[in-house]
Parts: sequence; C-alpha cells; structure tokens
Amino acid sequence: MDHQLNFVICYLHYHQSGLIFIGSIMQQSKLEWDESLLAKYNISGPRYTSYPTALEFTENYQTSDYLMCLNGLPADQSLSLYIHIPFCQNICYYCACNKIITKHKSQAEQYVDNLMKEIRLVAAEVGDNPLRQIHWGGGTPTYLSIEQICAIMHAIRESFEVPDEESTEISIEIDPRAIHIEDIKHLAKLGFNRMSMGVQDFDIKVQKAVNRVQSFEMTRDMIIEARKYGFKSINLDLIYGLPFQTKHSFEQTLKLVVEISPDRISVFNYAHLPHRFKPQRRISSNDLPTAVEKLSIFQYIIENLQENGYLYIGMDHFAKPDDELAIAQKEGCLHRNFQGYTTHEEYQLIGVGVSSIGSINGHYHQNVRDVEPYYKALDNNRLPSWRGVKVNGDDLLRKRVIFDLICHFELDMAKVDQEFNIDFEHYFATELAMLKPFIEDKLVGLTERTIQVSNRGRLLIRNICMVFDAYLNELHTINSFSKVI
Ligand code: SF4
Repeated sequence: MDHQLNFVICYLHYHQSGLIFIGSIMQQSKLEWDESLLAKYNISGPRYTSYPTALEFTENYQTSDYLMCLNGLPADQSLSLYIHIPFCQNICYYCACNKIITKHKSQAEQYVDNLMKEIRLVAAEVGDNPLRQIHWGGGTPTYLSIEQICAIMHAIRESFEVPDEESTEISIEIDPRAIHIEDIKHLAKLGFNRMSMGVQDFDIKVQKAVNRVQSFEMTRDMIIEARKYGFKSINLDLIYGLPFQTKHSFEQTLKLVVEISPDRISVFNYAHLPHRFKPQRRISSNDLPTAVEKLSIFQYIIENLQENGYLYIGMDHFAKPDDELAIAQKEGCLHRNFQGYTTHEEYQLIGVGVSSIGSINGHYHQNVRDVEPYYKALDNNRLPSWRGVKVNGDDLLRKRVIFDLICHFELDMAKVDQEFNIDFEHYFATELAMLKPFIEDKLVGLTERTIQVSNRGRLLIRNICMVFDAYLNELHTINSFSKVI
C-alpha cells in the first residue's frame, strides 16, 4: 500500500436510530492537521495503557487473587516480563517518573538481591509457561553494572522457561550517558535484542535547561554499535514543549534524528506540572514555548517524520513501515500495555521491581512504589503488592473497544457482538450518540457495522476512546490525566 496517498471514500445514509452515519474506506494512514479542531478537543485524557486506568486500582485488591491468576494460567499461555530499575545518576528536570536519584551505586546491590528474590517467588507460581518477551525499564536500567544485569538475567533463565533467544524479545531502555559503548556487546551476549534510548532534544541550550546533556555523536555511536550487534526495532524518545524549544531549533534536532534513522520514534508532549513533580520546579515557565509555538513544533514533527517515511502508529509513536509495530498494525495484531504499543496481544504480563504493573487474566496488579516496603515484603517471602483491580465483564468489553480504536483506528461491531454476545448498537447507544460531534467534525466515520477514525481524527484518538470509558464521569477524574495534545 502506498502510504503517501491519502484516499478516503465517503458516503452518507440514515440508520434506523436516526443518526447520520458517514462511512469511510480509508486506504491510507497519513495524518491530517486541523489546528482549530486540535484546539477544540485539547482536553486532558488517559493514555490508555490499561483499561480501567491505574486510577481505578485499589488497595483493597487481594494478593491472593493475583496468586490465583498466576497459578491458574494454562500451560501454553506465553508470558511477558517487565523489570523496573528505579535508579538514575542525575535528575532530568522534566521527569515525572518514579525514580531514585543517587550516585552511590552500592544502593543498587540490595535492590538487585531483592529483585532476584521476587523473580524466583513469582516464577514459582506460574509453572512452565514460556517467557517470550522481557522488557527492562526505569529509571535507568543501565545504572546497574553488566555483572548485576547478568545476575538478574541468570535468575530469570533459571526461574522461567525462556525459549531460544532468537524468538524471545529482550528489550532495554538505554541512557547513553550511563553506559560504556563496549557494554552494548555484553548486553547482546546476554540476549538483549531491542533497545530504546532517551534523547528528548539535541539542542544544547534545551539540554542544559533540563539538565540532560547528551551529544548527537554519543547517541549516534551507541546506535551504530547496537546495530552492529544485531539490535532491532531501535527507538528514540523525543519531547516537545521543553524550555527554549522553537520550531526552528527542533528542525535541527529532527534532521539529526532522521540522519540516525531509528526504527521507531516516540514523541511526547511535556506537561509542566511543578506542583505535582518537584524536579519540574527547576524549569521556569517563562522559558517554555508558547502554546502556539508548541503546536507548530508538533505539526512540524508530524509532517517531517511522515515525509521521511515514518508511519504514525498512534498515540505519540512513529515507526518505519518494515518495523514490527507497523507490521503488527497492518496485520491487525497490535496491542497496548504499560510500555505503550506491543506486538503480542496474547501474552500475560508480569511486573517485577518497585511500582511495576502486571496484567494477568483480567487482573491488574501493581507493586509498592518505595524500596523500603518492597524489601520488607520480600524479607518475609511475600509478593510486594500495593494495589490492583479485578476487571468485570463490562471492563473487558470496553477495553476491547478502546484498544481496537487506539491500535487500529477502527472497530468491527459485528466481531464485538460475537465475542461478547451483545447487540453493540443497543449496548453502546449512549456512546454512539456521544460520537455525533466527532462525526460532524469528520473525525470519525460510521458505517452500519464499523467505527472508523479518519486521518484527521487520529491525533485525537484519546478523545474518541474517552467516549467509551465508563469511569470518566467526574471532571476531577479527567483532570488527573495529561492533555491529549
Ligand atoms: S527522565 Fe529518565 S533518566 Fe531522567 S531522571 Fe527521569 S527516569 Fe531518570
């Protein structure tokens, strides 16, 4: 399919409910930019890495329920493991993550010991299920030494059934400032084959203002090295809306990013919330780009990346057409979890380490956020549970609808009817009526049996998904999330 074409066939007819339906057959995924619509719909909303979102997790959730889920997994059910390393050597002023800033590397030793203990505890509950995906996130996973990473990988292989390395995706978030280039080779030897790297901006003035100075050469060399050792699906993270950024300065950053040619690019919107995130108090709001400038940077990113052959996957993510994410989207098997988009819908997710979240058989489970209670629980041979939620039938149905829309920009009502034994138009009559303004603004097209998000609606996918979210009835709930643009 030629992704540079932007071909839409529309037709109108009246449905028996009286709603006007606009059917559209989209043969292309190039985004359309409509500034007035972006301004109109730019409210706060969830990023839908789960449904229900983490706001619905409760401390009343019983660890015994989670254990039952782990024990009850069918033997052929594949697993995905998320490992959280909370340490960072330096603070980035824009940071809103759960992390521990320390230059005392010895602090990590106790954490590594406890992490391995948790891995063994949790693995003992799941039997021989194959572990096919491992993701290391943080914080900064490469804060740990290669020896510590090796010890943890060894504990994983000892405790879980890990099939051959070729077919197991093992990814790691890299901070090029916190790793020696020769360690890339060691990571490859340990089985790592995917990588994501934070950049944010290559402009030195911006980098100094956010306390993250990282040269283009350092980033480029790290990626060249990673490719040499067989890493695939290499991702770079960028942020727009940082202090001193202008469209002009970001043009240069993007030129350098395109020169490096990562397989994936994530572009996040900086939300300045100094009352909630202490490090952000080091950023003066006077230095931030105006709303107009920020929007023009965002528009430039979208147009430039598409011109350079990247496809918009959705929700801040771009990928080359031959990348696994783009292929999964084309084949209809893209999914979402706490790491963003993922290619394996069917895997059950186990989280280890402080604040990590797992998703097993319709249960969400989150570990405690701080190291002290984490160590204490493991000292007592208990899982370090904090909170969770057991989803109900309505949650599962709405999750299916929201994830289909956010991953594929379309929904087949007939399939949902069949899977959940409902009459979609009847069950979601209120929600379909709430879609009317989106239809009038040509963000959404409806045929009798499909919902399709148009190319101008894709940037506003969070708003469209929010229509189907049963928990978003309170304004304070909505305001707990970031702006959609
Ligand atoms: S942005 Fe990442 S590297 Fe920077 S302080 Fe936060 S977690 Fe650490």
